[in-house]
Amino acid sequence: MPSSASRKLLVATTNSKKLIELKILLAGLPCDLIGLSDLACYDDVPENGTTFAENASLKALGFANQSGLLTLAEDSGLCCDALNGAPGIYSARFAGPSKSDLENNKKLLKLLEDVPDEKRGAHFKSAVAIAKPGRVIGIVEGEVHGRVHREISGTNGFGYDPVFFYPPFQATFGMVSSERKNQVSHRSQALRKARDVLQAYLSFGRI
Ligand code: IMP
Repeated sequence: MPSSASRKLLVATTNSKKLIELKILLAGLPCDLIGLSDLACYDDVPENGTTFAENASLKALGFANQSGLLTLAEDSGLCCDALNGAPGIYSARFAGPSKSDLENNKKLLKLLEDVPDEKRGAHFKSAVAIAKPGRVIGIVEGEVHGRVHREISGTNGFGYDPVFFYPPFQATFGMVSSERKNQVSHRSQALRKARDVLQAYLSFGRI
């Protein structure tokens, strides 16, 4: 069985809006969820992998080693067909290191200005890694497919939500409630799988 200390789950993200989504999607697990801001101090973990899964694993293991806690980390982004998968793992800093979501969205819309509707396909991808000190115990992924809208529409969510048009909703993710987005999102799909990994680990102490 895991020790009582591992009944805490560190959710390792510095993105406050993402932390809210993650905490909602992980609610009900038999462990106390804490965020990085609950740690007395920590060093940043460089995200220098080449895939979402690599970056999520680096973060989960890095923060598990620092904190001594069972740790979940997520890496995600938007991949556009017309841009050969960009911005991908560079989604957060697409328009530059200290640029805002609005600037990232404007850059994307400008780049795709002349791209016809049928070539505006895009998907969000999320990779979630779970680690204990010294070892990654699980990596899971989720995707949701849609297309890049022609304008910024909606004020809900964060990041590229206002430009990600999801055909089954006939709306962008920025136009729907967080509950509606969470029914189908890349992160909710990955988190559903992550819950299974965590349930197994918390019940049996090993995978
Ligand atoms: P990360 O925090 O390094 O994983 O960066 C993820 C970036 O991808 C975010 O800053 C957003 O720009 C984008 N992203 C990931 N998930 C979503 C989502 O659910 N909605 C909108 N943008 C997202």
